[in-house]
Amino acid sequence: MTDAAPLWFDPALCLIGEEWRPASKGQTLSLVNPSDGSALCNIARGDAADIDAAVTAARTALDGPWGAMTATERGRLLSRMGELVLARCDTLAQLEAMDVGKPLTQARADAVALARYLEFYGGAADKLHGETIPYQSGYTVYSLREPHGVTGHIVPWNYPMQIIGRSVGAALAMGNACVLKPADEACLTALAFAQIAVEAGLPAGALNVVPGIGAEAGAALAGHPGVDHISFTGSVATGALVQQAAGRNVVPVTLELGGKSPQLVFNDADLQAALPFLVNSGIQNAGQTCSAASRILVQRGVYNQVRDAMAAAYKQLSVGPAMADMRLGPLISMRQKEIIEGYLAKGQDLTIAAQGYLAEEATDRGAYVCPTLFADVAPDHPLAQEEIFGPVQVLIPFDSEDQAVAIANGTDYGLVAGLWTRDGARQMRLAKRLRAGQVFVNNYGAGGGVELPFGGTGKSGHGREKGFEALYGFSQLKTIAAYHG
Ligand code: NAD
Repeated sequence: MTDAAPLWFDPALCLIGEEWRPASKGQTLSLVNPSDGSALCNIARGDAADIDAAVTAARTALDGPWGAMTATERGRLLSRMGELVLARCDTLAQLEAMDVGKPLTQARADAVALARYLEFYGGAADKLHGETIPYQSGYTVYSLREPHGVTGHIVPWNYPMQIIGRSVGAALAMGNACVLKPADEACLTALAFAQIAVEAGLPAGALNVVPGIGAEAGAALAGHPGVDHISFTGSVATGALVQQAAGRNVVPVTLELGGKSPQLVFNDADLQAALPFLVNSGIQNAGQTCSAASRILVQRGVYNQVRDAMAAAYKQLSVGPAMADMRLGPLISMRQKEIIEGYLAKGQDLTIAAQGYLAEEATDRGAYVCPTLFADVAPDHPLAQEEIFGPVQVLIPFDSEDQAVAIANGTDYGLVAGLWTRDGARQMRLAKRLRAGQVFVNNYGAGGGVELPFGGTGKSGHGREKGFEALYGFSQLKTIAAYHG
């Protein structure tokens, strides 16, 4: 670890209750900097025993000062955590850049988003309430919004800060006690977040963090009988395992999974406005984004124009170390690089419209790949069907609106869709017809909006996080019927 981003906490420990402690068996994992393959530091390799201790600590917190806090007090604590995140924004960005390989500017945006989630959920904590329900004479009936209890949070490596903000932030706002299992590839900012929570005065056990391998710590958390709700963000295959494990305990699960999201560009679109969104949505975070627009569907009348403009933009895309802050950093690991190269090989039969370039600093020791734009791809080609999770986009031409909708809806996924057209009626029509949890009209992503409910349909998962909606997901309704005659 360099002096550029000093760790002000010990990364080799888990936070369980009030104690920072090593994994129960003393085992560790080594974190690698994907920009140059160097060893960053060791983290704890927690297992079932550590998860068990964390769940117990969380339960104890619910029965103690954390459970006794008012919603307003919880909100103030979250807001305080948000302020501390902002104060440490640059350090958090450096940690994320080194751990994930994310260019510094993008890592900084994630830190700001984490602060914003804490601010949003801090403000919302005392705004959600039950109702009174008109009922038979002699009764007073009302409902209470209560926390689930102990919530488990299993997060991936691609946007650790944002995903922790949206899931742990909302869960704490509703009064749950959380056990967080970060990804084994990248968990420094999860640990930094835990340290910030301690500094903000979050009562012991309200947040517990156990790093470790998915099949060990992750599986133990998903199947723990003392957990009352699981929020999982990650791949479809793991999500299915998590749902099965939680199902054995009849525990509700929110699944935020993958995507193969389309942007649809019609002949009447404002192409100048669309162009940056078409490219950025595919290459941001080196394409390792669940909501990446990996399919660009373009109506035949403007197809050549869009292809050429995107190709010109692709040629300007530089790839290099996260700290050099180019358009793209490395992928998370050499393993991910192999997967993406496998997909590029699958595209050998296709036309490459353009590629970006590796900067001199992008040495063989880092997990670098060139962003690649394929043209004239058939909708059923594997590159147009499977989530690649790297900087690869496909251009698919279409003729009619019906055909565009059929192609857009023609994968197993349904996370996000973007729509570029000046025709107001078509905007309304397609916003309804597109199979996705979020539809963006004449933009893509709306700047990330922590206020905007997010989640998928089909293999993209179920349940919603972000926005006010997450507060419903992280709470349950109790109905009270009092007979008084
Ligand atoms: P992954 O499923 O391999 O890992 C995600 C998390 O699950 C990690 O913490 C991992 O350690 C843990 N895990 C692994 N095996 C487990 C098991 N058997 N039981 C419990 N936990 C286990 O996913 P990944 O490769 O880290 O992330 C990439 C995937 O995540 C992509 O498919 C991407 O689309 C998806 N993703 C979705 C969203 C969303 O909001 N929809 C956001 C980010 C990433």
